Amino acid sequence: MRRIPEKSVEDRAVVEAILDAGLVAHVGIVDEDGQPFVVPVAYARDGDRLLFHGSTGSRLFRRLAEGAPTCVTVTLLDGLVLARSAFESSMNYRGVMALGRCEVLEGIERDRALRVVSDHLLPGRWDDIRPPSRKELAATLVLALPLDEVSAKVSDKMPEDDPQDVDRPVWGGVVPLRETFGEPMPDERGSAYPVPAYLESWTR
Ligand SMILES: Cc1cc2nc3c(=O)[nH]c(=O)nc-3n(C[C@H](O)[C@H](O)[C@H](O)COP(=O)(O)OP(=O)(O)OC[C@H]3O[C@@H](n4cnc5c(N)ncnc54)[C@H](O)[C@@H]3O)c2cc1C
Repeated sequence: MRRIPEKSVEDRAVVEAILDAGLVAHVGIVDEDGQPFVVPVAYARDGDRLLFHGSTGSRLFRRLAEGAPTCVTVTLLDGLVLARSAFESSMNYRGVMALGRCEVLEGIERDRALRVVSDHLLPGRWDDIRPPSRKELAATLVLALPLDEVSAKVSDKMPEDDPQDVDRPVWGGVVPLRETFGEPMPDERGSAYPVPAYLESWTR
């Protein structure tokens, strides 16, 4: 990490905690004609790898399944840092970047991975819902990216004002930003049933 290396975090536990807190990864590929694409997708961490699932018709998933090199980022935005100058104003965040190539998962490994992704995004839900049919599985690519080449960067600070700005008569500090779940809203048929107990544990 070349720019602001003091924000770099080597601790694997921090890397894993960031990946476990995120829900969306931005996955980059370069298409055959050289055009890069960065696509947001759901993911889950499974030990030393990230799992993704998507359509067999998706350009992203097809390129990844072919073994195209990828760069994946997960970003958690924690706040806006309001300094007394535009230059020193910034963001607090936790982010991970992983580089590598995906492996296609098949059979029992694929079926297990789908549950791991569901358990990460919708903990407790899998046992209540219909599992994927054979036709649905045939239309789904499930991929694993080994977490071999990974970096994490964390910024968690108050503004660091330039000495010439510290006496500027204006408020400075951090405005925290939090992602939260709202009250569950039943659809037409959902209102006939109680809200499942596992939803109570969905906090962010
Ligand atoms: C929060 C979030 C989570 C998602 N999770 C998943 C997932 O787990 N699995 C999955 O398969 N898909 C997921 N999607 C959809 C995903 O981002 C892609 O739209 C989808 O995978 C199709 O990709 P593709 O490579 O086939 O797109 P392409 O067919 O290559 O896209 C064609 C064109 O559509 C536009 N486009 C495609 N995707 C988007 C987008 N997301 N936003 C704006 N423009 C777009 C671009 O202009 C692109 O050139 C998610 C989207 C969001 C926002």
